[in-house]
Amino acid sequence: MRNIDFHCHSEVSDGLHPARDVVRFAATNGVDVLALTDHDSLGGLAQARQAAAEFGVSFIDGVEISVTWTSKTLHIVGVNIDPSEAILRAGLESIRSGRLQRAEKMAESLARIGIGGVLQGALSYAKKNPDMIGRTHFARHLVEAGHVKDVKSVFRKYLVPGKPGYVPHEWASLADAVNWIVASGGIAIIAHPGRYDIGPNAMKRLLGEFKTAGGLGVEVVTSNHTTEHIERFSRLSLEFDLLASRGSDFHGDEDGRVQLGRIPPLPAQLKPVWSLIPSLQ
Ligand code: AMP
Ligand code: MN
Ligand code: MN
Ligand code: MN
Repeated sequence: MRNIDFHCHSEVSDGLHPARDVVRFAATNGVDVLALTDHDSLGGLAQARQAAAEFGVSFIDGVEISVTWTSKTLHIVGVNIDPSEAILRAGLESIRSGRLQRAEKMAESLARIGIGGVLQGALSYAKKNPDMIGRTHFARHLVEAGHVKDVKSVFRKYLVPGKPGYVPHEWASLADAVNWIVASGGIAIIAHPGRYDIGPNAMKRLLGEFKTAGGLGVEVVTSNHTTEHIERFSRLSLEFDLLASRGSDFHGDEDGRVQLGRIPPLPAQLKPVWSLIPSLQ
């Protein structure tokens, strides 16, 4: 069985490594097919594709789009997109544009509880991509500056809804994100559904709306999905006739993040999203 990993990040968003290194690590880990899916940006794809040819990995263009749905943030992965497509590019640019302002508000909010200088600190972790400044960059800075012991704890204490460094933000709508992916010829996939704080009825509503918008897949196997998550989303993918995807959500070697390709295989009864990609048949 091929090792297919349809979810990972480079330093173009909040990964730690250049796209070329991400592909090199994938090859080392025995990944046969890789999609790079940086948050809201396509800037790593050309380098990754070139590296994939060099290291003997099949490469699929991808992206992970930030979405606001019923006041909650969700992520929609797009794979087999065309990175030159204008509707997708314009859409991603529109959601990137608010990040710096959000970061300023996050820093002001943390300053009010006595944690100062955080904007400069976070920006030092986003030197290559200041317009992609995000919570992960804040987390890395807060750990390095000694405020919290690790990235996970920073999120828990400061960066999730209800905590002092959290600033709500309006990302793309679900329908827009799916439309941009579909417009560029790609397959839209709900990323890591087990991570969302939504109840079983809302989850079914989400899957229904996603399908109506043109979404085709759900990430069944991903880092931090437990066996129970895999079983639950396998069932839901069959119930909603959605294809199943698999991706590590690799960001680099930090705080126990999962390595490329090192996640369970897709359950055999599921139809994989890559069955729709002609170049992978
Ligand atoms: P942003 O798009 O700036 O809101 O940042 C979202 C990113 O933060 C996600 O893509 C993850 O990489 C990271 N993240 C979110 N929640 C956690 C968490 N609990 N622990 C570690 N990283 C997280
Ligand atoms: Mn991330
Ligand atoms: Mn995500
Ligand atoms: Mn991700």
